[in-house]
Amino acid sequence: MRVLVIGSGAREHALVLALSHDPAVTALACAPGNAGTAAVAESYGADVTEPASVVAAAKEWRADLVVIGPEVPLVAGAADAVRAAGIACFGPSAAAARIEGSKAFAKDVMAAAGVPTAHSEIVDNPAKLDAALARFGPTWVVKDDGLAAGKGVAVTSDLAAARTHAMTLLDGGHPVLLESYLDGPEASLFCLVDGTTVVPLLPAQDFKRVGDDDAGPNTGGMGAYAPLPWTTPDLVDDVLTKIIQPVVDELAERGAPFSGLLYAGLALTSEGPQVIEFNCRFGDPETQVVLALLRTPLAGLLNAVATGTLAAQPALEWHDGYAVTVVVAAEGYPGRVRSGDVIAGAEAHGVLHAGTRRRDDGAIVSAGGRVLSVMGTGPTLHEARDEAYRLVADVHLTGSHHRTDIAARAAKGEITAR
Ligand code: AMP
Repeated sequence: MRVLVIGSGAREHALVLALSHDPAVTALACAPGNAGTAAVAESYGADVTEPASVVAAAKEWRADLVVIGPEVPLVAGAADAVRAAGIACFGPSAAAARIEGSKAFAKDVMAAAGVPTAHSEIVDNPAKLDAALARFGPTWVVKDDGLAAGKGVAVTSDLAAARTHAMTLLDGGHPVLLESYLDGPEASLFCLVDGTTVVPLLPAQDFKRVGDDDAGPNTGGMGAYAPLPWTTPDLVDDVLTKIIQPVVDELAERGAPFSGLLYAGLALTSEGPQVIEFNCRFGDPETQVVLALLRTPLAGLLNAVATGTLAAQPALEWHDGYAVTVVVAAEGYPGRVRSGDVIAGAEAHGVLHAGTRRRDDGAIVSAGGRVLSVMGTGPTLHEARDEAYRLVADVHLTGSHHRTDIAARAAKGEITAR
C-alpha cells in the first residue's frame, strides 16, 4: 500500500512514524512534511490547504490511501475531492467536518442527538454582547465560531477580558459563541469511525494553556499523556454510548456520515462527561502518545475506515505502560514567534517535529510556534514523564519554552475521577 499523509505537524510526524512500522506499507510520503517526517517518508510539495492540490499530489504520487491530518483541508473538501478521484481517503467529507468547522453546527447536532454539552448562545452583533455576557459567567467562555487552531477561546473570570476577546472576534467579522463553564478534569477520546462503526482509541489528556499550573493563554497544546490512570473503567463505554454513537448516528441521518477520526474533547463533570468540542481529525499533541502505545498496524486500520470495513477488524492491541509528550515552543508562542534558530538535539530518538525546517547547510532550524515535541514512554506514568523530561534537557533552542508540569498531577495521583 502506497500511503500519502497530508500535513506538516508533529501529528503528521507521529502518523508517518506509526505507518512506517506497518509491513503493509510499501511506500510512504508526506506532503508537505517537515524535517522530521523527511527522515521516514518522502517529502512531496503541495499546497495542502487546496483540495485540488491534494488530489494532484495523490494522483501524481500514485497513492493507494491518502491520510489527511489537518482540519483546514478537510473543512475545504479535500477528502471529497480525493474520493471523487477514485482514491481511498482517511478523513471526513466537508459536510461531516462541519462538526469541527462550525461550533454552531456541532451544537445543533449534539442537541438533536441528546448529547450533554455546555449551554451556548451565538452573538453576531456587538450591541447584543453585554446582555449576553450578563446571562453567562463568571467564569466566561468566549469562542470563535469557526476554525481557530485551538487559540480562539478565552476562559476567564474577568468580565473585561471576556468582553475584549469577544469584541476582537466580532470586529474581525467572526460570530462569537458564549458557553457555560464546564468544571472537571478534561479528557480527549479519539474514535475511528467509518460512517457507522466506532472504534475508540486510548483516552488521553492534553495541556492547552501555555504556562505551568494552566497559567496564560490557550495554545494548540503544550503536552499530553495517555492512558489516564485516574478515570473510571467504564468511562470509554459511557462516552461511546452517550456521546459518540448518538453523534455518529445523527450525522449519518443528516446525510453526512462521518468517516475518519472523531475526536471528542470532554469535561468529566460531577454530572458525567460533557462535550467541550468535537474535532474532525487526529489532535496534536495527543496523537503522539496514543499512537506510541498502539500495537495494531496503523495503515490497515486507517484503510478499514476509508473503505467502510471497520466492523471486520480484530480488536485493537496496545502496548502496556504510558507515554508522555512535552512540546518545546519558540520564544513568543502563542503570540508572534521568533524563528530561524538552529535547534540542537532535534534528531534524537523520541523527538517529533512540528515547526522545523532543514536549512540548505543541513542544520535543522525553528520554523513555527510549537517547534517540536519530546516523548517518553515507560511502565509507569512517572517513568514515562521522567524519560520525556530527560530528553527535553538535550534539546537546545534559543529562547524556547516548555511546560514543566505535563502529567505531573496525574503521576502523583492528584486527579480524581468524578
Ligand atoms: P476548544 O477550542 O473549544 O477546545 O477550547 C479550548 C479549551 O478551552 C478547552 O480544551 C478547555 O480547556 C477550554 N474550554 C472550552 N470550552 C469550555 C467550557 N465550556 N468550559 C470550560 N472550559 C472550556
